[in-house]
This record gives sequence, structure tokens and C-alpha cells, in this order.
Amino acid sequence: MDKEDKKFDVIVVGSGIAGLYSALRLKKYGINVVVITKDKVDETNTNLAQGGMAVALGKDDSTELHLKDTIESGAGISDEEIVRILVSEAKNRVEEFIRFVGVQFERKNEEFDFALEGGHSLPRILHIRDKTGEYIQKSLVEKAMRENIRIIENAFLLKIVTEESHVIGAEVMLNGEHIKMSADNIILATGGSGQLYKITTNAQTATGDGIAIAYRAGAVVSNLEFVQFHPTATILPDGKVRLITEAIRGAGAKIINDRRERFVCKYDERCELATRDIISRAIYFEMQKKNTRIYLDLRDVPEEKIKKEFEGFYETMTRYRKDITKEPIEIVPAAHYMNGGIRVNEFGQSNLEGLYAIGEASCTGVHGANRLASNSLLEAVVFSSRAVEAIVNGAKWKGLRLEKKDLVNPPIDLGKHLEDVKIIRDVNELKEVMWNNVGIVREGKTLSEAILRIKKTRDKINQQKKIFDKKQLEFVNMLDLSELIATAALVREESRGCHYRKDFPSENEKWKVTINFVLQ
Ligand SMILES: Cc1cc2nc3c(=O)[nH]c(=O)nc-3n(C[C@H](O)[C@H](O)[C@H](O)COP(=O)(O)OP(=O)(O)OC[C@H]3O[C@@H](n4cnc5c(N)ncnc54)[C@H](O)[C@@H]3O)c2cc1C
Repeated sequence: MDKEDKKFDVIVVGSGIAGLYSALRLKKYGINVVVITKDKVDETNTNLAQGGMAVALGKDDSTELHLKDTIESGAGISDEEIVRILVSEAKNRVEEFIRFVGVQFERKNEEFDFALEGGHSLPRILHIRDKTGEYIQKSLVEKAMRENIRIIENAFLLKIVTEESHVIGAEVMLNGEHIKMSADNIILATGGSGQLYKITTNAQTATGDGIAIAYRAGAVVSNLEFVQFHPTATILPDGKVRLITEAIRGAGAKIINDRRERFVCKYDERCELATRDIISRAIYFEMQKKNTRIYLDLRDVPEEKIKKEFEGFYETMTRYRKDITKEPIEIVPAAHYMNGGIRVNEFGQSNLEGLYAIGEASCTGVHGANRLASNSLLEAVVFSSRAVEAIVNGAKWKGLRLEKKDLVNPPIDLGKHLEDVKIIRDVNELKEVMWNNVGIVREGKTLSEAILRIKKTRDKINQQKKIFDKKQLEFVNMLDLSELIATAALVREESRGCHYRKDFPSENEKWKVTINFVLQ
């Protein structure tokens, strides 16, 4: 890369739906854009999405109903104004996405074939069998190739460079070398952070880098305590974790324990179609009883339907010699989605001028305390379009304004001291700590211990002053984000959405606020 090669109008970081769709729209308007991505172009959560994209297009559906379901799932923390933008722009934005990218969602007699997922009042999920993400990723990459979008693989974002809270560029590691790129705008589309946990459905790349890097640059990060666990993942014989889409429960699959009892209805009258947080906790509590194992039983779902609509799952399990039409499959909950992230306004703009965040790395306010299934691909489409329009129109930077009632850097009392705890040796130990102390069910004592251990580890790394490789850089980002998640979880002394505190098991009106952090 020579000097001229390193100047762009916009640097997009990430090659999932948020990054590639933003880049494609920018290119359409003649903007000089580059996409950097730390791995191969398709090593993304987008590629793994199964269920689909929620949009109120059906004849019995309405934006009001989609709004109601989203707000209900968000458990009092969603920003209603932003949710209204999402659902009311969804139809046009999604139709444009389909036309522009060429994704063919499944149809039945000319109409879209809507799937049903937990928390939705009626079927409204556009999908392509259970391989929606794979088709979306492939279509985006092909379109990006046709449009000659410059995509640089194995380019790791190290740092956002600012001057007086204004973005001027980025530092990137490319082939082991640190390089500087300049641009007045950066779109962070770096995805989520499931890899912070021992069991996750997420891609290897989902280590939360963008959130940690933006925080270190001075961006506000919010709602990080709300980590969504998916109730139905299965650990394959080779140790890989595979998500089982909840559309399969929409089609009639049941969750049972090893005594073949259905137990989720004891926790919620919607049974297997309750929201993910409720089912994950139901499974967690059931598993605590004498080490009970939990299974997904598909025997009520017609065999033909399984083979056609859940082709991906059927194929995978057949490869491991399991006939899902006949035998229940053992399941575990797994870290799945980061509801919080870099706090942005209705145009994806953060508090740092020129810094945008889109997709799972962002916190628009849509998901609140718990994302409604299949709202994230939609969110990426709607808000990348809005961010691109803001950049193209060159309107005055609106930026982010926090509301008075929002908490910023709330104080915490950790009780113990650094000397009382052990450091975390490596990434696997960090994942264990996050799983055990900052997981599906949390409490003050173990959250404090996790925070102290992370702080102590961070102090040790700071002293080492080593030149980091990619894995070490990720580890540092994971430590920073883990500390923020655990701190937010410790601050929130209640249970709401996907944040559950054993020591504060009820929802508390006083906590109907967002918890924000900004480096000072
Ligand atoms: C198994 C699974 C199933 C899902 N199913 C659905 C579904 O049916 N419907 C739905 O709406 N949502 C679903 N989701 C969630 C949804 O897929 C994601 O939220 C969405 O795809 C995120 O898109 P993104 O573009 O923000 O991030 P990603 O697609 O994860 O892309 C992130 C990109 O950032 C890059 N990156 C990260 N850090 C750096 C760095 N330091 N430097 C450079 N590049 C970096 C990565 O390499 C990657 O290219 C699912 C998620 C999973 C894991």
C-alpha cells in the first residue's frame, strides 16, 4: 500500500451485513470507500444467521404489531422512537435491499413464506430455508466483487485516531505491519462478542474488538449487561457449537428433560415460543437439578418439513450420524447476541464526530434488554442505509446526546482487593470466568470477583509492553469488554430481559435506565 492508497472518504471495518451493505451503498453514491476485515471476508456472524429477517409485510401484520413485539421483548429499555424508525422504514429498506443485493427470500405462491419465531405475534420472518445468513453473505460478497469494492482481508483495526473528538483515521495491522489510514469517517461494523464466553454460537471473529477500541477512543458504550443467550445450541461431536434456529420450535419442536418431560411451560405460558431469555433460564435451572440433560424433540414436526425447511440442521446432524426426525438432540444454551454496544443516534452516529457504528457492534436502542429474534439483520439494513445517507448528504453532524436519566460511569464497590484474586492466564480461562461469573444467572459476589481478576490481568499485560500478535490483541479487547460487561451487570441490581441476578431476581422500576460508560 503506498501513501495515496491510504486516504479514503470512509473506512468500513467489518465484512458482515452491516459493513458490506454500507460499503455498497456508499460506492453507489461515488464515495471512496475501503472495507477492512480481520479474517476472511465471510468469517462473520452474518454468514451463520439461520432464521432470517423480521419485517411486517404479511397481510395480517402491521408495523404497530412489530413495534409492540419489539418493545415487549426489550423489557422497558428499548428506545421507542428508534424502534418506530426501524419498523416503519423496514418495508421500503428491505425491498431496496432485496432489489439492490439480489437476495431471493423464499416465497410460496408468489407471496413471501414467513416463518414464526419466539416473541413474534405472527409469522413475519423472511428466510431462505435455515441458511438465510449464508445466502445474504454470499450475495453481498458477490455484489461487492462486481462493484469493485476494495476489501482488505486480514487487516486488523488497532486504533481509531481522533483529533479533538473528531475522527481522522485508523491504525491497522496488515500482514504483521502497523499502517495508518486516513479518513474523516469510520463505520465500525465489527459485530458482536459471543467469543467472550465458553459456549457460543458466534463466529471466531466475534471478540468484541470494535466496542473495546471505540471505548478506548472515547466513544460511549451502553447496555452491555444485556448479553443474549440462545436456548437451543448443540455441541457437535467435534466440539463445535451449532445453533438450532428457533423457527424449528415455531414448527412444533419441544424442549424436554431426560425424563422426557416438557418443562418450559412451568416458566412461561408461551412454552417453547417464549422469548430466548426465559427459555435459556428455564433450561439453566432445569440443568441444575441433579445434572439433568436437556433435549430438543422434533418428532412432532413432519419429516418432510424438517428435510426441506431445516435442511442445514438436518444435513449437519446426518453427517454426525444423528437422525433428528427420530431421536431428540441434546441442547445447551449458548452466548449468542450482544444487545448493547457503541451508543449511536438514529443515523448510526456516535459521540465522536465521524465515528459511526452499525450492526451488532452498535447500540441503537432497538433491542433494549433483549433482542427480538431476527430483528438484527433488519436493524443492520435500516441503519446502514440511514448512516450512508447522512454521510452522502453531508448534513451537519448531529451526534449523540445522552438523556438526563441515563447513568454514566456509575460507581461500584468491589468489596475485595486485587491481592485477593488470581490473574486470568489465557483466553480460555477468560471464557470460563465469563461463563461462570457473568453468564445466564449472575450475582454480586461472583461479578465483583470477575472484575477484579480482569483488572489484575490487565495490569499485568500493561506492564509487559509486548508487541502483540492478533490473538493477543483480541485478548486485550476481550478483557476490556468483559470488564465493562461485568461492571454493568454488577451495577444493575435487578433482573430484566436477558440480565438475571440471583441476588435481585425481580424487575425494579428504578432501573428503567441505560447504563453507559465513557473513558475519562
Ligand atoms: C448462529 C447465528 C444465527 C443468527 N441468526 C440470526 C437470524 O436468523 N436473524 C437475525 O436477524 N440475526 C441473527 N443472528 C445475529 C446476526 O447474524 C448478527 O447480529 C449480524 O449478522 C451481525 O452483523 P454485523 O455485520 O454487525 O457483524 P458480523 O457479520 O459478525 O461481521 C463482523 C465483521 O467485523 C470484522 N471485525 C471484527 N473485529 C475486527 C477488527 N479488529 N478489525 C477488522 N475487522 C474486524 C469481522 O472479521 C467481521 O468481518 C444470528 C447470529 C448467529 C451467530
